[in-house]
Amino acid sequence: MRYVSTRGQAPELGFNDVLLAGLATDGGLYVPAEYPPLPELPLGGYAELAHAVMQPYIGNEIDSTALLAMCREAYGTFRHPATVPLVQIDTDEWIMELFHGPTLAFKDVALQLVGRLFDHVLAQRGERLMIVGATSGDTGSAAIDGVKRCDNVDIVILYPQGRVSDVQRKQMTTVDAPNVHTVAIDGTFDDCQDLVKAMFNDAAFRTELNLSAVNSINWARVMAQVVYYVAAIDALGGRPVCFSVPTGNFGNVLAGWIAGEMGAEVDSLIVGSNTNDILTRFFDSQSMVASGVVPTLSPSMDIQVSSNFERLLFEMNDRDGGATAEQMSQFRSTGRMGVEPDQYARWIAPTFRAASCDDHGTLATMRNVYEATGMLIDPHTAVGVSATRQRKAQGVPVVTLATAHPAKFPDAVERATGVRPTLPEHLADLFSRPERTHPLPNDLAAVQSYVRSVAR
Ligand SMILES: *Cc1c(COP(=O)(O)O)cnc(C)c1O
Repeated sequence: MRYVSTRGQAPELGFNDVLLAGLATDGGLYVPAEYPPLPELPLGGYAELAHAVMQPYIGNEIDSTALLAMCREAYGTFRHPATVPLVQIDTDEWIMELFHGPTLAFKDVALQLVGRLFDHVLAQRGERLMIVGATSGDTGSAAIDGVKRCDNVDIVILYPQGRVSDVQRKQMTTVDAPNVHTVAIDGTFDDCQDLVKAMFNDAAFRTELNLSAVNSINWARVMAQVVYYVAAIDALGGRPVCFSVPTGNFGNVLAGWIAGEMGAEVDSLIVGSNTNDILTRFFDSQSMVASGVVPTLSPSMDIQVSSNFERLLFEMNDRDGGATAEQMSQFRSTGRMGVEPDQYARWIAPTFRAASCDDHGTLATMRNVYEATGMLIDPHTAVGVSATRQRKAQGVPVVTLATAHPAKFPDAVERATGVRPTLPEHLADLFSRPERTHPLPNDLAAVQSYVRSVAR
């Protein structure tokens, strides 16, 4: 399988290079040259399914037996025998719990595997790399947990001091591994992101440390997420299924669209947003207009621009990289981008619907689900359930993807239901584990010298 950039100027690469590169050199995102048909689904569990679904994207770049072993290890870290269990909450309505991984967020599904893929390919090449990232919450802990056993990867995660939740901070700072480092920056999340960008823009520094990122534009993360759509459809007997997806960067819901391209019975995709509803406004108006970010109860969806949307835009442009590059540059300079009615009619209208839900609706949905079923759901999942109930079609089963464990957001859950969710057993002692973090000022030179000092 070869991969092409959505902006048409970067070299075509194979899977391993795409894995390590993340972003393409022309600023675009890598996509496969074609979407392969679904293979025959194997007997066995989630790891076997993941191996079968991903194999055509990897080809012979990674040995098939090694890939299966990595899938088994990655999904062996999930604390539920079904890995991603389906729970019915109403007639024709299910929740798929994607949060049984080590850090209780759906990002574990991709990052537990991607960490292992990184280490495998680096070992083969005799290389090492340094991952630097900024986090406002879930991504940092999931990335750390995904690489904490990697021999060839070091990771430094910057977070804004005093501005992430206690659970989120503890999940990052209590990991005791020689390659894991967290930095508490005296500043905001934007300051952290700017520091990371500045490190990547310093070409000498980037080369010296072989810097890499594991953000959601990495193709391998999207690929790993295709698997649970296939699993859900299979578990519901193979009939067409609608999925409702709490959406931020569009990576998760894009994976559902790809499952459909591969031939899985995806009836439709509901894109759920909180008050940061750039996508809902796009689906209503066919025009993408950026606006500021406001904080909500579902912080992992507080985004201004959904970076993975570019992969769908590339398809809408009939895979014309030049046209896509032009649209993206127009969007960057004007904060606005429109699509043609025929593009909309062909690519969006048949498959996508969208709905948004503010904090009030989020709390009401958490309360409603608790009263009807006794189940606690987190605020991100609640946005998804609300979107389901706003946009579902009669007679089509709907699966809402549950993207975080309720115990990750105990204050919001308690506010809605009166019940404070407890951490699962493997994290029960989280608050008594020793923390290890390094406070630094919002200063590029100080951060660079720290990163250099911890590289192995
Ligand atoms: C990252 C995240 C999302 C958004 O997923 P995207 O792939 O960025 O759309 C939703 N919910 C939770 C809990 C997350 O951590």
